[in-house]
Amino acid sequence: MAYKWTLSGVEETQLFAESLAALLQPGDFMALEGDLGAGKTTFTQGLGRGLGVKQVVNSPTFTIIKEYQGRLPLYHMDVYRVGDDVDSLGLDDYFFGDGVCVVEWASLIEEVLPADRLTVLLRTVGEDERLIELVPQGVRYVNLCEEFDFDARTGN
Ligand code: ADP
Ligand code: MG
Repeated sequence: MAYKWTLSGVEETQLFAESLAALLQPGDFMALEGDLGAGKTTFTQGLGRGLGVKQVVNSPTFTIIKEYQGRLPLYHMDVYRVGDDVDSLGLDDYFFGDGVCVVEWASLIEEVLPADRLTVLLRTVGEDERLIELVPQGVRYVNLCEEFDFDARTGN
């Protein structure tokens, strides 16, 4: 089963994430993959909206970790610049905590990621169009994908 959609414009990407956020539970983990500008941070802003985060969610590239409070805590990370510091960051407190954990460029730290996770692949296919694919690993995320029903209103 493939979970793929085409998202036209920032608003639709955020709406997609917002709908997905409604289904999230404490401890959920999402790995965001895609090139620079693919929409990982944009997607996370939508998640924040869906979780009822009041602050502006913006890129944690330089801070590595940002924490927000909504219906659940949202831990937003960008590990692009982590390099060899990965062990000193105490990531497990976030990865196995009670919030929703979202990691941009997660594949760079593949060896420390939770085995069960939802991978979100974003690909630029046009100036305003992004292909999004959800890849569930583990029962929790297979169920989540089955439950998630986003009508992207693009006919797919
Ligand atoms: P990343 O975090 O993956 O580097 P960002 O979310 O920071 O990417 O940037 C995505 C860029 O692409 C933004 O400038 C945004 O306006 C633009 N964009 C255009 N169309 C879309 C879309 N459908 N979804 C997400 N971003 C889009
Ligand atoms: Mg980003």
